Amino acid sequence: MSKTKKILGIDLGTTYSCVAYINDYGQAEVIPNAEGERTTPSVVWFDGKRAVVGQEAKEMTSVYPNSVCSFVKRNMGNDDFTFDVDGIQYVPEHVSSLILRKLVKDASQFLGEEINDVVITCPAYFFVKEREATKRAGEIAGLNVLRIINEPTAAAFAYGVKPNENIKERFILVYDLGGGTFDTTIVRISKDGVDVLCTDGDHQLGGKDWDDRLVQHLVKRFNEESGQHVDVTDDSEFYYDVLQKAEQCKKQLSDKKTTKTTLAFQGNKVQIETSREQFEQMTEDLLDRTVALTRSVLDMARKKGCTKFDQLILVGGSSRMPQVSNRLKKEFSVEPQIFEPDEAVAKGAAVIGNNVYVQQLINEKLTRRSAGLTVETASAEELKAASKMVADENGYTLEIVTNATKRAKNVSSKTFGITVLDGYDVKGQPQLSVSNLIYRNTPLPAECSEQYATIADKQQIVVVELVENMCDAPVLGQPEPVISLDDTTSLWNGELPVKPNLRKYSPIDVTFRIDENGRLILIAFDPASNGKLEKAIPEQKNDTQTGMGKVTELIVE
Ligand code: AMP
Repeated sequence: MSKTKKILGIDLGTTYSCVAYINDYGQAEVIPNAEGERTTPSVVWFDGKRAVVGQEAKEMTSVYPNSVCSFVKRNMGNDDFTFDVDGIQYVPEHVSSLILRKLVKDASQFLGEEINDVVITCPAYFFVKEREATKRAGEIAGLNVLRIINEPTAAAFAYGVKPNENIKERFILVYDLGGGTFDTTIVRISKDGVDVLCTDGDHQLGGKDWDDRLVQHLVKRFNEESGQHVDVTDDSEFYYDVLQKAEQCKKQLSDKKTTKTTLAFQGNKVQIETSREQFEQMTEDLLDRTVALTRSVLDMARKKGCTKFDQLILVGGSSRMPQVSNRLKKEFSVEPQIFEPDEAVAKGAAVIGNNVYVQQLINEKLTRRSAGLTVETASAEELKAASKMVADENGYTLEIVTNATKRAKNVSSKTFGITVLDGYDVKGQPQLSVSNLIYRNTPLPAECSEQYATIADKQQIVVVELVENMCDAPVLGQPEPVISLDDTTSLWNGELPVKPNLRKYSPIDVTFRIDENGRLILIAFDPASNGKLEKAIPEQKNDTQTGMGKVTELIVE
C-alpha cells in the first residue's frame, strides 16, 4: 500500500489512554508516547503555565493532590463538575482536551508529521451530553474529530470482527472492565455492519475499586503489625503512596500467586504479603456486580432475539486479572478471548477512523456523479464504481474500501418519554404518569410519534415535559411497563400554545427523533393551529466557562 492519510484512533480512557493508527501495511499499530510507553495515564497536573499529562502527573498526586486531576471521564457531560486550580475552573472537556493534546502531540512527533484528524472512543452507554463533551474536548484541543465511536464496537473491529457478505449474523459479548468504568455490550455483526444490540454499565466501577480494597487491606495489616492506628485519609501523601503500591500489588497478582508490599510511615516499616486468593476474596462482590450487569444485558438481548453469543471478548486493563476470565468461563461456559486488552479499543478506533475517511472519499466521488448521493443512498453499481476509483487513486485495496462502507450503529442508552396527566386526586392535585416514546437499546437513528389530547375545553397551552428513565421496551404481547415518576429525570419542559377555544380531547402530536450521535429532537404539534414547539437536547454549548481562555494557553508536556 502506498502512503495514505493518517487518522488517529484515540481511546480516551478513565485511567489510561492509548493512540493507534493504520500503518503503511494496512495494520493497526499503537503509537508510544514521548516517554516510550504504549498507554498514558489520563492524569493532568496543573503546574502554573504547564499542564503535565501522564505518568509524571500521576506521580505528583501524592505531592500536589489539589493540582492533579484524575478520573475526569467519570464526570464527562456533568455540568456541575469543575476542577478548580489557581482560581480557574476547568470543566471535564477542558481537562480532557489537555490529555488529547499530549496524546496527539506525541503521536505527531513519533510519525514525523502533524496529525489533526482523529476519532475518539467513548463507552456505548455514553449518551448525547457525554458524547458532545468528548467531541468538544477534541475541538478545544484544535483537532478535527471525524467521529465519536463506541468502545465495544472498536474492540470488535480490533479483534478482526468484520462485516462480511459470506458470514451469517453473529453476536459478540464485549466485557470491558477499565480503570474507572465497566460496560458490557452485545454487538451484532452482519453483512451490513457492526451494530450495538444492547448495552449496560456502571460508571463508578473499575480497577480503582479493586485498588481501594487493597488499600484497606494493606493499611489494616500495617496497623496490626506496627501497633499504630493510622487513618489513611488523614495523610494524603501516605494515602497516595499506598494507592500506588496497591495498584502495583494488584498487577503483580495477575502474574504471581503472592506478592510483598512494603509500607513505611512515621518511623515504622512493615512488609505485607498478599496472596491472589486473599485478593480475590476481598473483591468478589465487585466481580459479582459485573456478572449481574452482564446477565441483565443478556436478558435484554434475548428479548431482541439473540439467544446466545458466539464470542466473548475481554477489554480494559482490569480484565487482565485472572479472576475475571475464570469467573466468566464458569458463568457462561465460553472461553473468553483476551488479547492486548488495553490497546484493542485504540486499534479498532484506528480501523474505524480509516473507514470513516475512506467513506468520505467515496461520498465525494458519489456527489460528483449526482448531487447529494452518499454511501447510504447509492445503488450497488454506483457504490462499486466509486469504491474502485477511490481504491485506484489512493492506493487502497478494493477490500479495504468495500469494508469501509459498512455501517457501525449504536443504540439509545436511555428511554425517553413525556409526562401525561391521568386525572386529579380527591384533593384536586394533578396525577401524572410517564408515556415513553423511544426505549433504551432502540437502534439509532430512531423516530417515534404518538398522539395525545388536550385535557380541558378552551385550554390555552399544553405543557410538554421531556423525561428520561431506564424502562425496558415492552415485550411483544405483554402490557407496557409502568414507570414511577420517582424513577424518571426531567430533562426539559416547554409550553405549546394551542388554537383558542379548542375542545377537550383535541389531538396534539408529539414526535421524538434521535440521531446517530444521540441528539434528541422533540416536536409537539397542534394540528388545529399548525402551532409547533421544537426543542433539541442537548443545546449546543457556548464557551462561557472561565477556564476556556486559560486552557488553550497552557503548555502541554
Ligand atoms: P484501562 O482503563 O482499560 O486502561 O484499564 C486500566 C486499569 O487496568 C487500571 O485500573 C489498571 O490498574 C488495570 N490494569 C492494568 N494492567 C493490569 C494487570 N496486569 N492486572 C490487573 N489490572 C491491571
